[in-house]
Parts: sequence; C-alpha cells; structure tokens
Amino acid sequence: MTGVLKGSGYYTHVSIADNNPSLEALILNPQPVVIPRPDHNISRVNISPNALKVLYRLREAGYRACLVGGGVRDLLLGREPKDFDIATDARPEQIYRLFRNCRLIGRRFRLAHVQFDHEIIEVATFRGHGDDSEEGDGSTIERAADGRILSDNVYGGIEDDAWRRDFTINALYYDISDFAVLDYVGGIEDLKAGLIRLIGDPAERYHEDPVRLLRAVRFAAKLGLRIDPATEAPLHRLGHLLEKIPPARLADEILKLFMGGCAIQTFELLRHYRLFGFLFPATERCLNHQQQHYPKTLLMRALAGTDARLAGGQPVNPAFLFAALLWDPLREQMQRLQASGLDEGEALHAAADAVIQSQIRRVSMNRRYSLSMREIWEMQQRLTITTGKRPLRLLTHPRFRAGYDFLLLRADADQPAAELAEWWTRFMAMDEKGRIQAVLSSPKGKKGKSRRRRKPRSAGQSDSPSQPPAES
Ligand code: ATP
Ligand code: MG
Repeated sequence: MTGVLKGSGYYTHVSIADNNPSLEALILNPQPVVIPRPDHNISRVNISPNALKVLYRLREAGYRACLVGGGVRDLLLGREPKDFDIATDARPEQIYRLFRNCRLIGRRFRLAHVQFDHEIIEVATFRGHGDDSEEGDGSTIERAADGRILSDNVYGGIEDDAWRRDFTINALYYDISDFAVLDYVGGIEDLKAGLIRLIGDPAERYHEDPVRLLRAVRFAAKLGLRIDPATEAPLHRLGHLLEKIPPARLADEILKLFMGGCAIQTFELLRHYRLFGFLFPATERCLNHQQQHYPKTLLMRALAGTDARLAGGQPVNPAFLFAALLWDPLREQMQRLQASGLDEGEALHAAADAVIQSQIRRVSMNRRYSLSMREIWEMQQRLTITTGKRPLRLLTHPRFRAGYDFLLLRADADQPAAELAEWWTRFMAMDEKGRIQAVLSSPKGKKGKSRRRRKPRSAGQSDSPSQPPAES
C-alpha cells in the first residue's frame, strides 16, 4: 500500500478501542475518528468536478453531503478512483428535486443517478437499521428466509449508514462541509495495514449479500490488499450462496471482476476460494478434469492480454474474454457432437447454443457479447480455409481481427493452430498480388464448404476447429 496517510496524530476523537469493532460497539459508540483536512491527502483537485458540483448543491440546499466508498478509499491510497459515490441525508425525492439531470433507480436500493455528459454520479441516502421505524419512512429491510437482504430502503444517520456498508475501507466519508475524513468502523487503520475486513460478523454479512464474496476478491486483486483472516475464512465455503444471486446482477459483477485491470489475480483468487465454479461451472469442470495445461494456458493468455490492453489504455471487448473462458466447454461439447455424427460446422453451432444456454442460466450475458463470442468461435473454422477467394473476403470481415487474435491465443498450445496462425500472419503482411498467389498455391487448408457429414471421430483425435476435415 502506498503510504499516503499522514502520521497518526489525528486520533482526536477515537471512540472505538479495538480494530475490529462489533456492531454493538458501533451502534453504542457512533463517534467517528475524525481526520481533519491537513492530516489527509484528499484534495478537491483529484475529485471529479461533477461530483463536487453535486456535493456543493446538496450542501447549499441544507443537506449533509459526503463522498464515500471507493472514491475516498482510492484517493487515500493515492489511486485514481473509478467512480465517485455520494451519500447524503437528503431523501431520493429531495435529491431528484435538486437536479434537473437526475433519475431515481433501483428497487433493492433506491438511488439517485445524476447524469452529466460522460459521467454518472450516484447519490445514495444514508441507510439505517431495519428495526428503527421512526427513521424508516414506514419501510423495512426486506429479508429472505436465509438472511439475504432483498431490499434496503430504510433511511438513517451517517453513523448507521457506515455499518450498512461492506468493508471497513469502503465506509470512509469525506465531508464536504469541512473536508475532513470520518471513520466510524476502523477503516483508516485497515487501510494503513492493507487489510480488507468486513464490518460486523463476516458469515452473516456474506449471507445478507453473497455478492460481497466477489467484492472481497475484487478488492484484494485490484488493490493488492490482504483479506483479514476472519473475513477470508468463510470465502472458501460460502460460494454456493452465489447460486441465489440473479444472473443479471452476477453479469455486472463479472465485468467488474475481469475488466478492472487485474484479471489474472482475480481469476487465481476466485479459483483459490472455490468461487469460480459458481460463476463458470462448465469451465471449472474442464479445468478440473483435464490434466493438460491447454485450457489454462489459453485462458491465462487471454486474461493477461486483457490486463495488458487496459494498462495500455486500449479498448477491450468482453466477448473476447468470454470466448476464451468458454472455449474449452465448447470444444468438449463439439467433440461429443462430432462423435455422434455431426460435421464440424453443425457441431460448432449446436455446441455454441448449448454452452451459451447453460452459462446464461448462471450469469446472464449481454446479447451483443454472446453474438460477438459466437462470431469469434465461428471464425476459428473459417480461418482454416486458406485457398480460393474466401481468405481474401475474410480479411474484410468486421470480426476478422478478433478471430485472428483468438487463433494466436490458441497457437501457443495447439500445433495445427500455430501453423495456421503463421499462415495468416504471413498472408496479412503480403500485398494484394502476393495474397492472390498465396491462396492459389496454398497446399494446406480447406477448400470450399465443409458441410460434409463425417464419420464419428475415433478416440484421441483432435477436436480443434483448426483441424482440416478428414479426407474421405
Ligand atoms: P469501485 O472502485 O469498484 O467503484 P466501490 O467500493 O466504490 O469500488 P461501488 O460498487 O461503487 O464500489 O459501491 C460504492 C460503495 O457502496 C462501496 O464502497 C460500499 O461502501 C457500498 N456498497 C457497494 N456494494 C455493497 C454491498 N454489496 N454491500 C454493502 N455495501 C456495499
Ligand atoms: Mg465506486
């Protein structure tokens, strides 16, 4: 962790003696540790001007307004925040009336989104305890029989809000009225120690919202922090709780997990804590069954490529990563279907249907991504044709580059794919005349359509779509 917190002389209002306060202690002792402006490194220069506008507008209207969550955490760590979240004592309708560019969203958690040109500032009303009917506006925290919170629209004070949050390092408030940082839960100490710690009883908090299992992993990977042992222990055994999370919510989390710039570490941690299998069950089965290094190599290269592109400021297409994550289940399905008599093309279509259908039962996938993923897979067959006009036409296909890049990924552990990748690399580097020569003279590869019905494969035969069809 970068040491950006100044000294430790700011514990002027320490009210929580130990570093792991119980909820009772928090409720009984709602006095925060206050870190005045001169003693921390958060400067308004590093806060989004839009977030500042919202904070000031709320404040001018007489409300309390604080930056909270990842914005405060990341600024204290000297990192650039991904987004800026605001917490206030204004109710959603009051926020709505203050901003023209505001939408109220969410059923589980009613929130205001203040929309600027390229940025949305999320504004949440301080949450309270479910049993406090006076603060509760008549609403309650709605729970399932297993303890999951189904909706939480009970409002309260800032001190209540702090302990409704997930990790101590995510519950720090930057108060716009005096620019001080307020800490009700020991978050500053944990930030200094580099620790991710759930507020309250870890198992109970994971049961309340199992997505916190994934959030623990995400923050550990992204921030390079350790997970406190008590927060870590249940991770290994509570993955099954993710089965209760709606597929659409998991889809959002998956993107955050793998598109945050630390996909490799995230993947390793998800597998370590046995969470990965609850997100990609078919992939997990392949990883466990196969002793070969092939699937993991391809996947690791895809993850590393995603991280490298993000680090270099290049755009990433999640479909490419999904294509890699589900590639091995696809190959296994294809193998089965080809063994039952389908030709390569038919097997690919049917296998893609089956793999996608079973995956979206667990984690939904934007249709844009699933279509694009299919195209990348189909391209692997089309790339096997290296004679005639087709290779020339394929070069102009909008998905060609993604398909070719995917072939390069496969090339590492698959000899036929490596030869094919080499052919395409040379082909792409040629001028028009050279390309025509190449497709006329190419000795290997397919010619024409490959829709012939084939004999069942014998055991041990490669099922790689790059494999030229058996000559009959
Ligand atoms: P990121 O850098 O990914 O934005 P973040 O911590 O800001 O990290 P958000 O999803 O933006 O994450 O959420 C903002 C804040 O809302 C969190 O810091 C945390 O205080 C609170 N929060 C979000 N999700 C949960 C949850 N599942 N349970 C409890 N609190 C949550
Ligand atoms: Mg955030």
